Amino acid sequence: MTTRYRVEYALKTHRRDQFIEWVKALLAVPFVIYSQPTGVYDAEGRDVDGMAAEAHRRYAEILKDVEEMINDHIKHQNDKRKLPSKLKLLVPSAGPFFTNLPLEDAFTYQDSKRYISSRRFVAPSFNDVRLILNSAQVMAVTRNHGLQLATFDGDVTLYDDGMSLEPSSPIIPRLIDLMRRDIMIGIVTAAGYTTPDLYHARLHGLLDTIATSPLLTPSQRRNLIIMGGEANYLFEFSPDAPHLLLPVPRSNWLTSEMSTWSDPAIHSLLDVAESALRDCIRTLNLPATVVRKDRAVGIIPRDPSVRLPRETLEETVLVVQKTLEINALRNPADARIPFCAFNGGRDVFVDIGDKSWGVTVCQNYFGKRRAAAAAAAGERNGNDASSFVIRGENTLHVGDQFLSAGSNDFKARSVCTTAWIASPGETLELLEEVVEALEKVPAAA
Ligand SMILES: [Mg+2]
Repeated sequence: MTTRYRVEYALKTHRRDQFIEWVKALLAVPFVIYSQPTGVYDAEGRDVDGMAAEAHRRYAEILKDVEEMINDHIKHQNDKRKLPSKLKLLVPSAGPFFTNLPLEDAFTYQDSKRYISSRRFVAPSFNDVRLILNSAQVMAVTRNHGLQLATFDGDVTLYDDGMSLEPSSPIIPRLIDLMRRDIMIGIVTAAGYTTPDLYHARLHGLLDTIATSPLLTPSQRRNLIIMGGEANYLFEFSPDAPHLLLPVPRSNWLTSEMSTWSDPAIHSLLDVAESALRDCIRTLNLPATVVRKDRAVGIIPRDPSVRLPRETLEETVLVVQKTLEINALRNPADARIPFCAFNGGRDVFVDIGDKSWGVTVCQNYFGKRRAAAAAAAGERNGNDASSFVIRGENTLHVGDQFLSAGSNDFKARSVCTTAWIASPGETLELLEEVVEALEKVPAAA
């Protein structure tokens, strides 16, 4: 279970999503002015419907204005002069947007589910805004059959932390629903196993269903890949392979940039991370042990039944991350290797690469496959292979970790559209929205 209390951090700005906080602050103004808390005991202001209609109109207007500001931001990001947009001036951490966001429509949808406008005491919250953004992203990415690839984090996104995707999970039929519409699926997880049996253990409900579902064609069944250790081990679904997964050799999927990461530089970075982790074990007196893998290093509790306090895990992440950042300034060779230090809920790991690379590999790998299929069918029409790569606006990554420090899904924001969910239950609701939206768009010509 995730804990609900807040922890104060010395580096607190890392624990906030500036854009969501900014939208929340804009919505707080009409809430303060129009909500009628006295209505619960006073005849005047009893008219909840009237209040809700007025609050709805004001919230919707504000979200429409933000929607326009994002359109303007997209114009600026496509402009060669690279001048900052108004949004960038107001929210300096605002990243690239791959699609515009129909926030007004998304608000109307979420308001009909969450009755945000009818509340007298609780202002529009962080979670309200997060869910409005998710709905807007789903609406935008499904428009005109735009969605070609959906990638998912594992823990907390597809199943509860440390658990596995059981055959009874209601998420599985929704994923099959995407696959039968020729949407590709990538599971981009921190779990860094090197053999298929361990991934099968975590994902057997989904893998076994894909193998037998009468809804899928043989070629659709192959449209699932697993990218493990953020961006380090690739497996593709194969009905004949042991555990239904075929390991794909690195040489078949490394992007040209990734293939320049040298082994000595990777080892040297992991050495620095390992010594920082050992320092944390000593200074925080952690009942933990170091685990070193070829592409990762981490700490796990010595006794698996012991849970390290969240504060300890976060402290360790921030220490290791800072140490590696300073190391990168001192050692230019190490600086070229991207890494991701994150709190895994029960452990802390530093992985080589991060989910932006993991999702990029999925976009390229499926792109290569499409290029090969087009070539075989004589339909390349002179297009080079790179034009088949799946683009950011055609990709949706779903995950639970989107804070900028110690959160591994955050990095995916630089390469595709994203949805930030807080539980497998929210993933299910999001997938229902996706399927509903896909049902509404007219069938492709
Ligand atoms: Mg997760």
